[in-house]
Amino acid sequence: MTLAFTCKKCDTRNIYKISRVAYYQGIVICTCSGCQSRHLIADNKGLLDFPEFGRNIEDYMESQGESVQRLVLSNTGVSTQDSSTRLSPDDSGNES
Ligand SMILES: [Zn+2]
Repeated sequence: MTLAFTCKKCDTRNIYKISRVAYYQGIVICTCSGCQSRHLIADNKGLLDFPEFGRNIEDYMESQGESVQRLVLSNTGVSTQDSSTRLSPDDSGNES
């Protein structure tokens, strides 16, 4: 799956391929390509001790009143009209 988000510290747009398994079952941390800040994306087990975070960035952003877009890829591609955090599945099927 693909995760896209804009860093709130430096406004850099980051796009990562992340493991679906890690996102839904483990821990995902992305480092901003602009300022090297680390962004917690998922912590399903609560191992990092951020109880306010929830299980993943979707929980967290919703708790903060921000929107997350879940996209389904199509032949027309993915639109890029705004800067919100997005998650989209891909059909490679070979993620570990
Ligand atoms: Zn940044």
